Amino acid sequence: MTNSNNIPQSDSLQRFLFEQAPVRGELVHLDASWRSVLERHDYPEVLRNLMGELAAAAVLLAATLKLQGSLVLQIMGRGPVKLLVVECSGDMKLRATAKWSGELAQSSFAELIGEGQFAITLDPKDGGQPYQGIVEIEGASVAEIMQNYMSHSEQLETRLWLAADGQHAAGMLLQKLPDTDKHEDADTDAWPRAVILAETLKTDELLLLPAKTLIQRLYHEDDIRLFDAQRVEFFCSCSRDNVAKMLQMLGREEVDSILAERETIEVHCEFCNQRYEFDKVDAEMIFLDSIVLPPSEARH
Ligand SMILES: [Zn+2]
Repeated sequence: MTNSNNIPQSDSLQRFLFEQAPVRGELVHLDASWRSVLERHDYPEVLRNLMGELAAAAVLLAATLKLQGSLVLQIMGRGPVKLLVVECSGDMKLRATAKWSGELAQSSFAELIGEGQFAITLDPKDGGQPYQGIVEIEGASVAEIMQNYMSHSEQLETRLWLAADGQHAAGMLLQKLPDTDKHEDADTDAWPRAVILAETLKTDELLLLPAKTLIQRLYHEDDIRLFDAQRVEFFCSCSRDNVAKMLQMLGREEVDSILAERETIEVHCEFCNQRYEFDKVDAEMIFLDSIVLPPSEARH
């Protein structure tokens, strides 16, 4: 087994490859980045763990797609959990939020979400059209939904293991690659064996073991190449400018009518809980900016 660096294993994504078989994998550990999500809202425990699993899954999928812009995963439920949202960018910046109603007791995924939909949005962030796919939820866990989705969309057999608690969120992905001539002496049992060994992984091991230790424990009989770790961070892309643009889109009339009833318009970001306030003077500035000025008198 080779590993070319000693980057700390926290808040990182690491890819790995079976040298003698067409199987690839990824491991993600979210620590400070995950706690940054949690310290901004008081999420019920059972919801928190689902969010953490979806956050780990988003990083695994972003790494699989090698995307440039950003990826948004949403689970829209008809049970007490209404919405789980995670956004992860190609450079591994992550944010997440959720909506729910009432007290959430410990119950099954099906009881929490009910029937619902799973949506994936790929936004190239380069001015190009975002792609959105929405499917009915297929599966009784975040991992099952994700592996069903990925097996269909990637046309490659994919398995995921996910876990989260109040301190960490983690995930492992295995994907069966198309068999090429490169693996003439390939052992055909490699895929089922890799999956069976991964099934032995305990939640604590997934959450707490460094990638290298975890891979050694599972696949000590295989030749595994472990790639350099990529850093994962919490980051919210909201800004005062973006909120101002949103108010511009809302229109002068609407903004004026809100400000006729109250001192300020308050907008708060559901991801990071940042509050943005706009008073009458701020509103003037927003719409001043958006007015197309007539040609200057000086030209006549
Ligand atoms: Zn924000």
